[in-house]
Amino acid sequence: MDGHVAPASARPTARGRLFFANPGPTNIPDSVLLATARASVDFNDPLFMTVYDGCVAGLKKVLKTEQTLFMYTASGHGAWEAALVNTLSPGDLVLIPETGHFSDSWTKMCGTLGFQTQAVPCDWRRGVEMSAIRDALAADTAHKIKAVCCVHNETAAGMRLPIDQVRKIMDELGHPALLMADTISSLGCYDFRMDEWGVDVCVGGSQKGLMLPTGFSFTGVSDKALTAHRTSTHPRHYFDWTEMLARKQKSFVGTVPVTLFYGLQEALRLMLVEEGLENVFLRHARLARAVRACVQHWSGNNGPQLFCQNPERYSDSVTAILMPEGHDAEVMRKIALEKFNVSTGGGLAKLSGKIFRIGHLGDLNEPMILGTLASIEMALGLAGVPHAKGGVQAAMDSLLKA
Ligand code: PLP
Repeated sequence: MDGHVAPASARPTARGRLFFANPGPTNIPDSVLLATARASVDFNDPLFMTVYDGCVAGLKKVLKTEQTLFMYTASGHGAWEAALVNTLSPGDLVLIPETGHFSDSWTKMCGTLGFQTQAVPCDWRRGVEMSAIRDALAADTAHKIKAVCCVHNETAAGMRLPIDQVRKIMDELGHPALLMADTISSLGCYDFRMDEWGVDVCVGGSQKGLMLPTGFSFTGVSDKALTAHRTSTHPRHYFDWTEMLARKQKSFVGTVPVTLFYGLQEALRLMLVEEGLENVFLRHARLARAVRACVQHWSGNNGPQLFCQNPERYSDSVTAILMPEGHDAEVMRKIALEKFNVSTGGGLAKLSGKIFRIGHLGDLNEPMILGTLASIEMALGLAGVPHAKGGVQAAMDSLLKA
């Protein structure tokens, strides 16, 4: 058919479904896709406002907050920017515990926006030491640090950061900085408690644990952060919370992405009503353990190994896998995609070619994980990468134990 553009999921040689194991965007459930297949409506229509208000209430349940929520037609970067420009003033100092590529990106954004940054460096394979965060905050007796920006789940390294422990340290030291948490790849995958953990601004996006298309992001905002907003002098317009509070929707400076809200309504129904949030977390934990069991098996014969070397920090939403020296992860990824229709995540920035990533977040079940792992094991063989065969059996054993 001349001029026909095939969808990316239908490679000419591939029938059946694309097995999509990227750490974002993620698989979208059929019922969410169908829910978004709606004609546009006026975003001030009272019927739509009912859907909208239900979505705001549901999203707050996922964030475990009763405080304020602001939403933006932007990917996660937009919500990062909103968090900073609404609460801080030019020249303010921000402490950023290093986690990997995404803490680096947030640091870069802070610099571009005119904030000063102080890093708490770490070994990307072990994660930042809590004692190093404590030392940095304790040394700041003049309270120059105005915000501590943490990435809850470092998607590039497959590692979590215990945000509740950061709050504990801040409280013990009586440090008044705002605590900000990027939950872009953890929200709806494993536990996050905005109010209980005293998070002042938490940042989330639509396209990962919430199982939606990319297109909107949001910030949960504490009363303390709203107070800081009132004295923040940073220029802003599209992301301005004051501007938003004056609007009917109390969010979105501009057109509301109505179609996404029908999808969000369904995604929240799946998570909060049909499966239950705690069961969503258990499923993510079960699948993550199976992936790790498989990778640990592969590593037996000098094969690929878990990038994260700190079991306390293992991520339940993404596993990063380090290739053996001299083997390019991109070769394996290309084979998996072109031969088996399995899409995995690549290494970001300095990890490019060195690691690949399996996203196990969102709309995913056991056979999808097993199919992905089996295909990767075949791709490793075809790429001539040493590994202990039988990783999929280890994953099955792990699932049977769970
Ligand atoms: N933070 C984390 C932890 C992420 O995983 C991502 C994207 O993958 C971002 C921030 C950036 O979000 P976005 O790509 O939606 O702008």
